Amino acid sequence: MSSNKSRSSASNNALKISTFTCTWCGLTVSTVARDGVRRNHCPSCLHSQHVLDHVEGGASDCHGRMAPIAVAMHRTDEWMVIHRCMRCDELTSNHICADDNQLILMRTAVRPLAQPPFPLESFGGL
Ligand SMILES: [Zn+2]
Ligand SMILES: [Zn+2]
Repeated sequence: MSSNKSRSSASNNALKISTFTCTWCGLTVSTVARDGVRRNHCPSCLHSQHVLDHVEGGASDCHGRMAPIAVAMHRTDEWMVIHRCMRCDELTSNHICADDNQLILMRTAVRPLAQPPFPLESFGGL
């Protein structure tokens, strides 16, 4: 159902470990997390880069910075982080990794509650 392994079977013989430099905080990030999961965002600040075309598939030439805007719960109780490209506004969702910065995850998750779009005082009279 959620397997996308079939596409890249030919080039998958060696898990190529490479690094990228975080576009936001400058950290050098390994593209494979400790537990072998492929990661596409920085574990420290959770920013990503728009290098994959998530609509058409394949590579994207946008290369815009993707900021974490929300955290969502997947059906399987897995946490997903929602990224939005600051350049073309594309939204993506990615699994979080075990070593992702939990402080940033929590801050992203509670942001709508911490900065409500309407005054919460109005609930006081209910
Ligand atoms: Zn970073
Ligand atoms: Zn983009």
